[in-house]
Amino acid sequence: MSMNRRKFLAGGLAGGLGGGALLTNAYGQSDRVGSRYARLDEVLARPVFKQELFKDPVIIESVELLKKDRSFLCRVRSTDGAEGISVAHNTISLLYPIFVNRLQRFFVGQDARRMDRLLEKALEFALNFRLGGLGIGIPLATVEFALLDMLGRIAGKPVGQLLGEVHNTHIPVYQATEWREKPVEESVALIKGAVERSGAPAVKIKVGALMFMTKDLDARGPAGRTEAIIPLIRETFGPDMALYADANGYYRDPKEAIRVGKLLQKYDYRYFEEPVYFDWLDGTKEVTDALSIPIAGGEQQHSMYSFRWLLANDGLDVVQPDHYYFGGLIRSIKAARMGEVLGKKCIPHLSGGFGYIYMLHLVSLMPNAGDHIEFKGYEDLPIECKTSSLRLKDGKIKVPTGPGIGVDIDPDWVKKYTRVENV
Ligand SMILES: [Mg+2]
Repeated sequence: MSMNRRKFLAGGLAGGLGGGALLTNAYGQSDRVGSRYARLDEVLARPVFKQELFKDPVIIESVELLKKDRSFLCRVRSTDGAEGISVAHNTISLLYPIFVNRLQRFFVGQDARRMDRLLEKALEFALNFRLGGLGIGIPLATVEFALLDMLGRIAGKPVGQLLGEVHNTHIPVYQATEWREKPVEESVALIKGAVERSGAPAVKIKVGALMFMTKDLDARGPAGRTEAIIPLIRETFGPDMALYADANGYYRDPKEAIRVGKLLQKYDYRYFEEPVYFDWLDGTKEVTDALSIPIAGGEQQHSMYSFRWLLANDGLDVVQPDHYYFGGLIRSIKAARMGEVLGKKCIPHLSGGFGYIYMLHLVSLMPNAGDHIEFKGYEDLPIECKTSSLRLKDGKIKVPTGPGIGVDIDPDWVKKYTRVENV
């Protein structure tokens, strides 16, 4: 990664924000950081959902969670008979009591046109913010996606047109890979196979040794894997392949992360994701300050203020909200917009499954989308999309342009689901 690219990412639109002497104000902030907070607060105050597209109220009559085995859908209906459906993240199999006890009754009877405020208030209601993180984020996102689908169908517009200006019609992706527990040669063969199958023009590998798949307290993974795989992946894919790397917050010492980051720089990787634990904000900044490779992060962040701090203080170069974990598209767009106003890229995290279809709409809205967006594979639900193959072609996936999410789930399939009742 060249310094030029880093400077583009970090400087960009913010280049004119008084890069001179950093005076400290009464709150201990530099004036430059203070003015950046002011710009971010303007972004946060700007509406996302275009309420003006709807003349009449859209009163939510029902919010249902539907279940078939370990698959969950959300169906919403308005009092006028409009309907929207979303597909829940599979982690809702752990979280459905939060959905049915804390969110269903909040949304019923509300006017869906006030989407921005509804999402804020849903976190305040019953002190739901105490369930911060994906505990409330996934159930909230599940409702939001279904409501946006319904509102888009009412307006005859794709979700993107309800939430801003569409900047991207085809989304370029990178193939996400795992296998950090495997020996280097085996990892490389698996990564190569995944890239060949998808045809993605870019790939992300795992570095560090976060052994989340084992209970072994002392598991460290294959010794020296990170140091060996970084150059080997470059050699395998050649000098022109776009490479990314993710530590999933493994490093407990920023100096260790910086050492690995320098290796990534040497082999021209494009970013280094979550070098240290996600909520170690100043540790993340320490790594960012020490390296020229852009530092990416945000998939675990559930606090808008954490993003705000990281961005205002140049603790992150690439902002990565996860639209399921973070509580929906509208909140994710706010994080992306905060990045945009400071000249930083957004490459949202993708947690798999049907989420890639919501990702397409989310990224369609971003003037500051990164060169490649995360892609993990397809969803095998019986769906029909008249406006996109939803498949990777020439390195990109076309954003659906039909009303709502632009994807119809086979109604006969939906009939196989049963309603989840209060628990
Ligand atoms: Mg990650």
